[in-house]
Amino acid sequence: MDTSRTRRSWAEPYKIKMVERLRMTTPEERRRAIDEAGYNTFLLHSDMVYVDLLTDSGTSAMSDYQWAGMMMGDEAYSGSANFYHLEANVQRYYGYPYVVPTHQGRGAEHLISQILISDGDTVPGNMYFTTTRLHQELAGAQFVDVIVDEAHDPTSLLPFKGNVDLEKLRAVIARVGADRVPYVCVAATVNMAGGQPISLENMKAVYELCLPLGIKVILDATRAVENAYFIQQREVGQSGRSVAEILFEMCSYSDGATMSGKKDLLVNIGGFLAMRDEDVYAEARSLVVVYEGMHTYGGLAGRDMEAMARGIEEAVQDDHIKARVGQVEYLGNLLIDDGVPIVRPIGGHAIYLDATQFLPHLTQDMFPAQTLAAELYVEGGIRAMERGIVSAGRDPVTGNHRYPKLELVRLTIPRRVYTQAHLDVVAEVVADLYDRRDSIKGLEMTFEPKYLRFFQSRFRPLP
Ligand SMILES: *Cc1c(COP(=O)(O)O)cnc(C)c1O
Repeated sequence: MDTSRTRRSWAEPYKIKMVERLRMTTPEERRRAIDEAGYNTFLLHSDMVYVDLLTDSGTSAMSDYQWAGMMMGDEAYSGSANFYHLEANVQRYYGYPYVVPTHQGRGAEHLISQILISDGDTVPGNMYFTTTRLHQELAGAQFVDVIVDEAHDPTSLLPFKGNVDLEKLRAVIARVGADRVPYVCVAATVNMAGGQPISLENMKAVYELCLPLGIKVILDATRAVENAYFIQQREVGQSGRSVAEILFEMCSYSDGATMSGKKDLLVNIGGFLAMRDEDVYAEARSLVVVYEGMHTYGGLAGRDMEAMARGIEEAVQDDHIKARVGQVEYLGNLLIDDGVPIVRPIGGHAIYLDATQFLPHLTQDMFPAQTLAAELYVEGGIRAMERGIVSAGRDPVTGNHRYPKLELVRLTIPRRVYTQAHLDVVAEVVADLYDRRDSIKGLEMTFEPKYLRFFQSRFRPLP
């Protein structure tokens, strides 16, 4: 690949109007900070972090157009003008006729799980996402992973590692019966597989398999715009189409979508549940009042809905998404050049360090990815997130750790926030750490919360 050309081509389609100063810290300060945080990067105070790659959730920079929209908040209790703007843009760009705003993605996941799932049901999906699966389980369903095998292999270069394995899906439906499968949960892109996309062809095939069986398809559309970009870049016959056109077609192969606006849609808070079925909408409208708020605000201020409505318009622009994914690719290629083991192909929103290969001397019980994330912080003030055994949690039936095949550290790039020089620093820090990887010891867990333990669990270094 001609990197000089790649480097030019992703250049930002915006310039900086306001900056936020960062505090520079010493290694001693960082060592103290990570110890106080129980070696969990989620528990660090953000003012002690230099480049914050914990998540791309709610951390994007809004545009002047979005900030201007914040001033146009219609804070009426019901029927806010901003809701109708949001609804119109969801209809226009995602194609779903009905929309219920929620405070963020998990609010939508909660609603759709409660509406569609009955106790004892099975929900197949292309790899789990933490909050999504938890809401399915709390509603009484069992989640079954039907993603292609290659998704679990960090070295496989398949262009669409997010695809559903249709044979696995058919087998699950045959085993439990179509009437016990309320819906298939299709994520685009697949966060837990490394931000890997699903192809348009595969989405269509899943939809066509489910339709005659009366099984719905619910899209996790959180990063669907990034997925649409990969389809444009990689899928045969798609290169001439706009990302917006592809996104619209992707959504046409689903009955509804849960959305965290904190990702693709460039806002700090917000989400929605979108759907085609009028009866599901009627239930969503009545349930949202219980958990989020009236169906025309769903836990959001009018100004937040306006920022999200405007964020949709910016998110689907080809130049925006090309720069967004291009920046991620830039960092990934620097690390590949340094010989650092990362998940390939490079995903849409993050670089995933392969902790199993990075720290082969640590067993999974020694939390290699958790360890690596803590070390990365001490080394250079870079904050990343564990995506391995801690995130996978415990099996609800046996109570044992789930041992995921992938033991990863996620370096997630917020949208429109960091410069190329920041990413150069990140690559240097990771490479330095890689050079001294043999000296890195593991961790043991000292506190474990009941739900979504990765957020609040605490650790101490092994002697
Ligand atoms: C972030 C995320 C969610 C949950 O959204 P929140 O806004 O954090 O509640 C669901 N699915 C995927 C793929 C996500 O990345």
